[in-house]
Amino acid sequence: MKAALVLSFDTTSLQQQVHEINLMLNNISTGFSSVELWLFYKDRKPEFFPEISCPLSDIKLIKVDNAHSPESYLQLLVHLMGQYPIDLLMFSSDGSGEELATRLAYRLNGSSCLKVEDCSLTSAKLEIIKPVYGNNLTARFVLESSPYCLSVAKQPCSPVKMTQMEFLKMETITLDQTQPWWVKETLTILDPPKTGLSDADLVLVVGQGAKNKETVDILKGIANTIGAQFGASRPVVMNAWADMNRLIGASGLIISPKLCIAAGVSGTGVFSVGIKSSGFIVAINIDSKARIFQIADVGIVGDVQAVLSELEKVILVEKDKKDSSHGFIEDRTQ
Ligand SMILES: Cc1cc2nc3c(=O)[nH]c(=O)nc-3n(C[C@H](O)[C@H](O)[C@H](O)COP(=O)(O)OP(=O)(O)OC[C@H]3O[C@@H](n4cnc5c(N)ncnc54)[C@H](O)[C@@H]3O)c2cc1C
Repeated sequence: MKAALVLSFDTTSLQQQVHEINLMLNNISTGFSSVELWLFYKDRKPEFFPEISCPLSDIKLIKVDNAHSPESYLQLLVHLMGQYPIDLLMFSSDGSGEELATRLAYRLNGSSCLKVEDCSLTSAKLEIIKPVYGNNLTARFVLESSPYCLSVAKQPCSPVKMTQMEFLKMETITLDQTQPWWVKETLTILDPPKTGLSDADLVLVVGQGAKNKETVDILKGIANTIGAQFGASRPVVMNAWADMNRLIGASGLIISPKLCIAAGVSGTGVFSVGIKSSGFIVAINIDSKARIFQIADVGIVGDVQAVLSELEKVILVEKDKKDSSHGFIEDRTQ
């Protein structure tokens, strides 16, 4: 079976996307006869490439004119598939990868499946393993018609290195690209700035238990004082109490800080998948039976604001003690 990894060089999360694809490649029991990297780029031709965990047979560098239009990528992919047929195309875990996987499979009469964790080829059919029902179950699907267009599952942040690949076959592909007649106007909305949540050591995630924007603002202040990045559950961002790029969970970020404090969240599967790889989890909830306590290392039954305000006081006192003991040492050395 021939496979191609389809990625965009200009995305800021390329190295994280390749980490997710590598995990999937390491899981796959079916061997590939060849694996190619199909890398889209806008202006500057890539010279460094992310480290892929299996040997590549070819890198195709594909120039895309209208980088914000999925239609441009689809046209190029359909054309490439005509010239270089591939059995399995693997796309990134983000919205763009999911959109391309689904739309390309439809155009090529193939099959698509999103958020895939593992796959294997049996009797000319592709078996897929992926989470379902809000990450509460894992299911097996069988895809019958190729090409198989898959997007991989999100994983905790661990970007791969970029490297030069000198001895590899590399082709640059430039094709005429036209916008379809039905695209009358395009509007580019820039990605929001990165939050630093993905690689933070300490994260405070606040849920609907905070009840209103005023309390959420107070909790953001506490996060700031204790040196934590601020994350939020879906109802918190949907109520516009926090920015969308703070969303933690299956629809947002998957984080793995050393310490995660989950305050006022119930702990649904779709939320918990976002924090369960943390080194240590402290959960705060007024309901002693809340599901979040099942994944917590320490559970505190209490009001989110009261508990976090006390924690802030303790941390400030400890910080003061530390600062004054440093001052004392400095004085003695003068
Ligand atoms: C397809 C799909 C994808 C989704 N993706 C995500 C996702 O990525 N991320 C996400 O978060 N959700 C996601 N959801 C929504 C998810 O199902 C839940 O609705 C959501 O996670 C619940 O958020 P919550 O825990 O903040 O709120 P609730 O479930 O309302 O829980 C609030 C908790 O706060 C506690 N509480 C109340 N008052 C206090 C207090 N004063 N002090 C302390 N605790 C208190 C309550 O006991 C309760 O446990 C998704 C849903 C779907 C269908």
